[in-house]
Amino acid sequence: MTAPVTAHPASTAGSPVRVVPGARTETAVTREDTGAAAETSAPVSPAEPVAVAATEPSPAELLAYARSEVLEAGRGLDEAAVLAVLRLPDESLNDLLALAHEVRMRWCGPEVEVEGIVSLKTGGCPEDCHFCSQSGKFDSPVRSAWLDVPSLVEAARQTAATGASEFCIVAAVRGPDARLMSQIREGVAAIRAAVEINIACSLGMLTQQQVDELTELGVHRYNHNLETARSHFAKVVTTHSWEERWETCEMVRAAGMELCCGAILGVGESLEQRAELAAQLALLEPDEVPMNFLNPRPGTPFGDYPPVAPRDALRAIAAFRLALPRTILRYSGGREITLGDLETQGMLGGINAVIVGNYLTTLGRPAESDLKMLADLSMPIKSLQATL
Ligand code: SF4
Repeated sequence: MTAPVTAHPASTAGSPVRVVPGARTETAVTREDTGAAAETSAPVSPAEPVAVAATEPSPAELLAYARSEVLEAGRGLDEAAVLAVLRLPDESLNDLLALAHEVRMRWCGPEVEVEGIVSLKTGGCPEDCHFCSQSGKFDSPVRSAWLDVPSLVEAARQTAATGASEFCIVAAVRGPDARLMSQIREGVAAIRAAVEINIACSLGMLTQQQVDELTELGVHRYNHNLETARSHFAKVVTTHSWEERWETCEMVRAAGMELCCGAILGVGESLEQRAELAAQLALLEPDEVPMNFLNPRPGTPFGDYPPVAPRDALRAIAAFRLALPRTILRYSGGREITLGDLETQGMLGGINAVIVGNYLTTLGRPAESDLKMLADLSMPIKSLQATL
């Protein structure tokens, strides 16, 4: 093993981020800090090889630094180092994935958390997230529909039967109204009475009162994704702001619910913005980060975007693991279309949680396929919130 380097190897890359080895990145966001989003470089083209600037550290130096900082010291990489990792050449990909896997095994263990999701309210959302077929603003084939409480309980039962420990109730809304909160109240109570499973919710932006009520109901984890980097958000969503999403995440954490906060990659962001996003997530310290990859949906503004190239997706998974060594990093939507047969490589490159079954509007792999993959990899299924 190469001896750990002491100076930050990415600090020679001319990054605008001041690098303080071992400290958090200076992309810190506070509620007061709501200045204009910065323009950054052009979106990543999955077909193009990632260029490595001449002034950047060698791949060996960078990986040695990451080994020292993350694997041995348990400190997540900062934004500049994550960017350098995202720029690693294909020849270094296997070494990078191997290191990310070592980090996951050391700081999280071999267990994998399995989750099922169900859509309580589908389609007709007033928001305009450009990747989403559930937005009522676009001419997509998804139509508005509600699930009743008995169906919700049955979905929870089927999810638990796969060995999953998490069941997430999702609604396509800006935030819950009185009708949705009433259904959640009823649904959560019915599931808790009938099924042994942790209940999570994803209901959009919350008020403090709604945060408090969900906490009292026993919802133990709340999903609310940042979606993309702050500097790119306005090109992806115009009906609400990144800062509004951040505020809900902060309220959830402060109330004591576990926070699940992730991203969707492939929505036109640059590599710099992927690194920015990783740093912003690290600052938020979520218990779980779901990694979605764009599955271009017909009728949405991003419907003709190309899927993320498999190697770029794997580099991103490993980079996020190196930024978030102790976080539950979950394979979420789009992994099938982006990674195909390479899904196992992600499991051996930093991922330690999966969503089984179907997603909200797209089909996933059959649960049996994922469970077999985990068995083949000797990765036991376990609820991870008590472990990490
Ligand atoms: S991502 Fe969520 S908030 Fe955005 S349009 Fe889709 S359902 Fe609505």
